[in-house]
Amino acid sequence: MLQDQEVHAAQMERTFIAIKPDGVQRGLISEIIARFERKGFKLVAIKLVIPTKSFAQKHYHDLKERPFFDGLCDFLSSGPVLAMVWEGEGVIKYGRKLIGATDPQKSEPGTIRGDLAVVVGRNIIHGSDGPETAKDEINLWFKPEELTSYTSNQEKPDSTPH
Ligand code: UDP
Ligand code: MG
Repeated sequence: MLQDQEVHAAQMERTFIAIKPDGVQRGLISEIIARFERKGFKLVAIKLVIPTKSFAQKHYHDLKERPFFDGLCDFLSSGPVLAMVWEGEGVIKYGRKLIGATDPQKSEPGTIRGDLAVVVGRNIIHGSDGPETAKDEINLWFKPEELTSYTSNQEKPDSTPH
């Protein structure tokens, strides 16, 4: 039989979100995290890492034929990246909505890239684009023991005597 935590983990959708070096260096960590928190998504893993170039190439392997691939991987490995896993119903698709279009010029106002970025090569944030990439990216960036699984206290009855 599945334990409570396993049932919870099996049901809950997760996505990989990363604040790229430009977002970290511009001091936008709290601004970006706040948008995911306020929406109601749950943070289940977070760490600050400087990826190597070969790690960046693995992360962006789907884009290896594109002309901007080399510059993109140089950039991702140029400084600290805030790697995160967010959990919640619909978080993969809605996370992309919060982020906005790839090109900040085409991102709607109100989105992260629409409000905070100007050019495509410095668009401050990454988000998984579907269930398969979410699974692969979470596994690439995090070890299983780095992922937490918990029920918020708001979701539990208050057992404190009062
Ligand atoms: N990118 C770029 N030039 C382009 C297209 C993409 O520099 O013409 C960069 C941009 O930073 C983007 C990343 O490559 O975020 C990955 O591209 P993708 O198409 O996966 O966009 P995303 O999923 O990040 O919106
Ligand atoms: Mg992408």
